Amino acid sequence: MTGIIEVRNVFFRYNDAEEDAIKNVSFSLDEGEWLAIVGHNGSGKSTLAKLLNGLLLPYSGTVTVAGFKTNDANHVWDIRKQVGVVFQNPDNQFVGTTVMDDVAFGLENNGIPREEMLERIYDSLRKVQMEKFINHEPHRLSGGQKQRVAIAGIIALKPKIIILDEATSMLDPKGRKEVIDVVKNLNESENITVISITHDIEEAMLANRMIVMNQGEKVLEGRPHEIFAAYRDKLKEYQLEVPFVIQLKQKLAERGIVLNEHSFTQEELVEELWKFTSKT
Ligand code: ADP
Ligand code: MG
Repeated sequence: MTGIIEVRNVFFRYNDAEEDAIKNVSFSLDEGEWLAIVGHNGSGKSTLAKLLNGLLLPYSGTVTVAGFKTNDANHVWDIRKQVGVVFQNPDNQFVGTTVMDDVAFGLENNGIPREEMLERIYDSLRKVQMEKFINHEPHRLSGGQKQRVAIAGIIALKPKIIILDEATSMLDPKGRKEVIDVVKNLNESENITVISITHDIEEAMLANRMIVMNQGEKVLEGRPHEIFAAYRDKLKEYQLEVPFVIQLKQKLAERGIVLNEHSFTQEELVEELWKFTSKT
């Protein structure tokens, strides 16, 4: 079986650039997976996201989304429909004067009949827990609420894939959690494939797979906790941070205190330490 996304030996260069922004990147993703993409600024993450929804095309190699090649001009809209992107700045994503108008916008553009449109608007706002705000003005919402409305606008179009391009990076911890909870739920109950480009390590840890980008190349790929645990020095070289929980576990292990390798969040670590201290 081929994956919902197949990236094969992709090279991309911006018009005026002297160097490739994406260099020989390959990976594939199965439907329902959650992929985290991490890497320092300028490593090519957003460029990769734009190659995945066909906004940019590789000069060599291929990107296939839900069976359609992005460089096949006949299927541009099929691909755009399958891939929704949530961007970093919550304030740049609104077109409507109310939450309802905003979610309606994409549906109108796709010629969805009015009755079905209303159904989809209510349904998607419910899924992001924003149905109470349907008549509110978007600019009055919190950052987390704005991003949830942006997600509602995307899922109203029933995409198979959602890409979060640093979509939580401008939010406070509460907003971040709201957005992540919504995405987690969409991934688990609707089997939507998630690609999260993020600096937030806890967000990256939610993924079942992670890619590390450096200077346009995919330099590491694997399970997030395995990468963070096994490639400490490499990550430093790529200007990435090892999560606090893993740093602490490694320091404890050096002193003979070996904790459950499956605890990743601070809460889980506290739990483990609690068990450990009550044993001794
Ligand atoms: P990231 O999202 O990881 O920060 P980007 O994909 O935005 O990285 O950028 C990758 C490289 O491409 C960088 O060197 C950046 O300067 C360059 N780049 C990004 N967008 C453009 C553009 N529109 N025109 C020319 N170069 C660009
Ligand atoms: Mg970027």
